[in-house]
Amino acid sequence: MQKVKIPRTVDPAKSAQKRLDYQGIIQVSLMKRLAELTEGVKRNAEVSLSFELDEQRLVVISGKANVEVDLECQRCNEIFAHLCEVEFTCTPVYSEKSEQDAPEEYDLVDLNEYGELDLIKLVEDEFILELPQIAMHDESECSVKSNNMVFGDLPKEVLEEKPNPFDVLKNLKR
Ligand SMILES: [Zn+2]
Repeated sequence: MQKVKIPRTVDPAKSAQKRLDYQGIIQVSLMKRLAELTEGVKRNAEVSLSFELDEQRLVVISGKANVEVDLECQRCNEIFAHLCEVEFTCTPVYSEKSEQDAPEEYDLVDLNEYGELDLIKLVEDEFILELPQIAMHDESECSVKSNNMVFGDLPKEVLEEKPNPFDVLKNLKR
């Protein structure tokens, strides 16, 4: 099946009334922010989005998407491939009131100046939120083993081996 591009923007209320589903791709070239925050976006994103109205007649967008990016391991500085997979449920913000009424399980998304939802931005934002704060290989794949680590939290053993100052005092008193 040929992959279609998902539309850049949609009217979320109309899409929800028609219970539309969008399935397709976002081209690499459209994910510039993600490309800047990583070492590169390796392929098109695969995206599926469903629009519907919930019991409260709120527009709800359920989505799933995945893409592969390159990240730099903060332990060994090598580049590695990271599969970014996201799943989200969101509702557009029409007014301050709709923002307050929205159930907590929905992420809130803003509409553009034409009252449309920017689907590329929505999915790209979700990918960016999913990126690890500190990119690192799995330990088994990393060329630097954790006992050589020189930054971040000290491994527990090191902390425990440090003499307790009270023990030192005890020894002095003896
Ligand atoms: Zn590494």
